Amino acid sequence: MLTDQNKSLFLSENKLEEELKQYFGYNEFRAYQKEIIQALLRKEDVLAILPTGAGKSLCYQLPALLQSGTAIVVSPLISLMQDQVVSLYKNGISAAFINSSLPYQEIQSVLNHLSDYKLLYVAPERLLDPQFLSRLKETPISFFVIDEAHCISQWGHSFRVEYRKLSILKEIFPHCPIIALTATATGEVEKDIQVQLAMRNPILIKGSFDRPNLTIRIHPKIQVDKQLKNFLEQQGDRPGIIYAATRKGVENAFESLRQAGYVVGRYHAGLSEQERSSSQHAFLHDQVTIMVATVAFGMGVHKPDIRFIVHLDMPRNIEQFYQEIGRAGRDGLPAECLMLFGVQDFIIYKTFLEDLEDNEIRKQMKAKTESMYGLCTSLKCRRGELLRYFGEKFPLESCGACDNCLEDTGQIDGTIIAQKILSCVYRLKQNIGIRMAMDVLRGSKNQNILNRGYDQLSTHGLLSELSEQEVRYYIECLIHLRFLQLTEGEYPVLKWTEQSLAVVNGVKTVFFKKRDFKTKKSEKERLVKIRETTTLHYDENLFETLRKLRLQIARDECVPPYVVFSDRALQEMAVYFPKNQQEFSQINGVGPIKWVKYGEKFLKIINSYGGQSVIPKRINEPVVESMQRHHSMEETVILYRQGKNLEQIMEIRQLTKGTILSHLAEVIQKGVDLDISPLVPLEKQSAIKNAIAEVGVERLTPIKEKLSADISFDDIRLVTAFFRRSEFT
Ligand SMILES: [Zn+2]
Repeated sequence: MLTDQNKSLFLSENKLEEELKQYFGYNEFRAYQKEIIQALLRKEDVLAILPTGAGKSLCYQLPALLQSGTAIVVSPLISLMQDQVVSLYKNGISAAFINSSLPYQEIQSVLNHLSDYKLLYVAPERLLDPQFLSRLKETPISFFVIDEAHCISQWGHSFRVEYRKLSILKEIFPHCPIIALTATATGEVEKDIQVQLAMRNPILIKGSFDRPNLTIRIHPKIQVDKQLKNFLEQQGDRPGIIYAATRKGVENAFESLRQAGYVVGRYHAGLSEQERSSSQHAFLHDQVTIMVATVAFGMGVHKPDIRFIVHLDMPRNIEQFYQEIGRAGRDGLPAECLMLFGVQDFIIYKTFLEDLEDNEIRKQMKAKTESMYGLCTSLKCRRGELLRYFGEKFPLESCGACDNCLEDTGQIDGTIIAQKILSCVYRLKQNIGIRMAMDVLRGSKNQNILNRGYDQLSTHGLLSELSEQEVRYYIECLIHLRFLQLTEGEYPVLKWTEQSLAVVNGVKTVFFKKRDFKTKKSEKERLVKIRETTTLHYDENLFETLRKLRLQIARDECVPPYVVFSDRALQEMAVYFPKNQQEFSQINGVGPIKWVKYGEKFLKIINSYGGQSVIPKRINEPVVESMQRHHSMEETVILYRQGKNLEQIMEIRQLTKGTILSHLAEVIQKGVDLDISPLVPLEKQSAIKNAIAEVGVERLTPIKEKLSADISFDDIRLVTAFFRRSEFT
């Protein structure tokens, strides 16, 4: 007779793929998954370091199903447990979780039926509970999973004390394999995990940290609000997270976006637990598109279709940055990351670290923050720099998907600018902050300057031709290049370094990275271009229709939409137009259970779609996405010019009001003349024009504030489109 273990060994190559399709609906394994699964089936310990989005959970879920006994998954994140258990149920797999959110009765009931579950998720403190441990001893266990294993190591960035005690697992269950999983681990952390868990010659599997579907941009803070809104304009109504360092930062951005008409939620530790969880729920269920949050948000938010991450402030270290941007594009589809940074962020963290008592830890944390700032100011490929930090080589000079590779920045010889700045600092006895230096250099005559007589200095107004942002940028560059230093403490002042004199004497040349301080039209074109080359060429209208159906089903079942089907699955449907069960089942992400539950509904939509759209039903040849979007806009404009009203167009196009209006605004901005009076009556138009004359066309909120409440942001957007034309022509 075959023992269980032998049975596993007999699973042939193809058999594993069949099981994958059967239980999870996927057609093939992603990189490293099979290796890990096979090791677990051989009962070996595994340490897997894989980037977010690599499909880590499947690595233990599938082998758990293929063996007898229950797999115990230790995870620090309540939301993740719930999420995974729901997803497993959707695939017909019995799983449960135990954590503090469950009432006593339910916990007992789970414990009494432990052997019925293939997977049990628990928090580390629960696992260590003696009663729980003794209950486990009576149950057949297939293996232990330690998720977020970097929490074990105090060298990591999110050390958790309970994790340190997990070493007892090998003492109590010496024959049970352990798999430890993490998304970030440097060499020290990696070693620490093995030692702490007493792993026996574990199979070490280390995936590449490269996430090629993420475009990474890091820009200096110039006008944060404007930079943010420009970025969001490119994102459409796809979901994304905006991180700010402080609660206040979150509140400000939240308010500003809300007023500008975005569907936005917020999350930080100052909100009640109920507010936080309803905020998170709304985001997961696509009820709000944008979440503005502190670092508190995101652990355990396994939403695979997050399309962008913005950092309004520099994160504390590269690990944190990598982890946060790692939340975007887990479905493998393109996603955008934008970080804004300033030297101020760097100083705040460093000051904060001064309070740490442990010398060694303080030194380490400082070094980490310095690496982070170094990444921000680097002129090299961001991807290469990130990967090098994690001990990985990036073979290319240019990745083609970060700002340094994409944007034609180049360098400028900034020696003269540097000499002017350094002289100014010297004249002012190396005793002024950045703000004052900027004011003097730009020739400000504010009261503060006049009182001190700085307007009489020879360095006053030396850089009067430059904008405030430019002068700040150059000063910050000099600090980073170590031609200037900023002292620590409450009132940091600028001082020369040992290199400063050489610059002033003309012995040393200074190069700055070229920055365009005006909003560029080319930025938008580039974004479109990146998407063209990386996106599946699907029928966008059908995709949107399927998305709606998915949202409807998700609402009815109270689950996040991606639990029904992933974006990728919907996109494949919008490429292949499956006609029957057999074709539908070939879509990546469709397994037998999902076919039974949802297949008919989706097929019905796909089959009836043909007559609805002007776009060819089947996409036989590759059609670039921008062309489709172009088509899509054109179609809206044609219907509008035919005299259809908003509701009719929404009905015909199966698009939201917001999308239709954004199509109209975009073509107006591109120079197409449309009569918008059916949408915005003439008297409203003239009121808006008057407001624009007063406050300009840069931001919508100040315009709105000048107007009566019955004039909406949509009205304003349409009118301002006419005024924004020059930017694009
Ligand atoms: Zn690059």
